[in-house]
Amino acid sequence: MTKIALVTGANKGIGFETARLLAEDGHTVLVGARDEQRGRAAAEKINARFVQLDVTDAASISAAVKEIDTSWGVLDILINNAGIGLFDGPPTKSSLDALRQTFETNLFGIVAVTNALMPLLRRSSAARIVNVSSDVGSIALTSDPANPLYQLNGVSYPASKSALNMATMQYAKELKDTPIKINAVSPGYCATDLNNHSGFRTAEQGARIAVKMATLGDDGPTGTFVDDTGTLPW
Ligand code: NAP
Repeated sequence: MTKIALVTGANKGIGFETARLLAEDGHTVLVGARDEQRGRAAAEKINARFVQLDVTDAASISAAVKEIDTSWGVLDILINNAGIGLFDGPPTKSSLDALRQTFETNLFGIVAVTNALMPLLRRSSAARIVNVSSDVGSIALTSDPANPLYQLNGVSYPASKSALNMATMQYAKELKDTPIKINAVSPGYCATDLNNHSGFRTAEQGARIAVKMATLGDDGPTGTFVDDTGTLPW
C-alpha cells in the first residue's frame, strides 16, 4: 500500500538513499531539507516532493506540518534522519557549544519534529517512526573493551545518540496501545559527508534498515534499537 513518507535531512547521504528506496517502492516521498536548492534538486532526482524543513527551527517545522496537512492530511512514515556529528575531542576537553549544537539537532530537533507531526501520524492507520541513531550511542557496546567502538572517546555525538535511544524507548511506551511503532536504527559506518567518507559501507546499505523499520507490518516490534544484524544492546 502506498504511504506518505517524510525523511528529514534527505538531500544527501543516508537520508537521500532512504528517500530513494522508499520512492522506488512506490511510496509518496517528501524530501525534508533545510536548504531549498539542494532539497529540490534531490527530490527531482527521485521523483519526490521537497519540503523545506530545518529541524532546529520552530517556524520551519510548523510550516512543514501545515504543508503536509494541507496536501495529504496524514503522515504514515516519519524518518528522523537529519543529524550532525561533531567529534569534539576527549571528554575533558569537550566544547559546550558543540554539545549544545549537537543535541539541538540530534535530540531536540527530533522531539520537536515528531511532536509537531504527531496529529498527522495519529491519522494514519499504521504510522511508523524511525529514529536514525548509531551504534556509538550504545553504552553497552562503547564501554566494552573488546568492542572496536571502545576506542571512541568523546561526548557530544555519542551522548546525543544515547539520548535519542532513550527518547525512542520512552515514546514507544507512551504509544504502545496505538498503531504507531517507533524504533531506533543504526545504519553502520557509512561513507558520507558526516565522516568525510571514511565509512566502509555505502549510504544505501545504511538506509536499508531505516526502510525496513519504516515499512514494518502490524506484527513488527516497537521500542527497539536495531541494525542489519538484529537487536543492539542499549
Ligand atoms: P550527511 O551526509 O552529513 O547528511 C546529514 C543530513 O542531515 C544532511 O541532509 C543535512 O543537511 C541534514 N541536517 C543536518 N542538520 C539539519 C537540520 N538542522 N535540519 C535539517 N536537516 C539537517 O550524514 P549521514 O551520514 O547521511 O547522516 C544521516 C544520519 O545517519 C545522521 O543522523 C547520522 O548521525 C546517522 N548515522 C550516520 C552514520 C555514518 O556512518 N554515516 C553512522 C551512524 C549514524 P545539509 O546538507 O543541509 O547539511
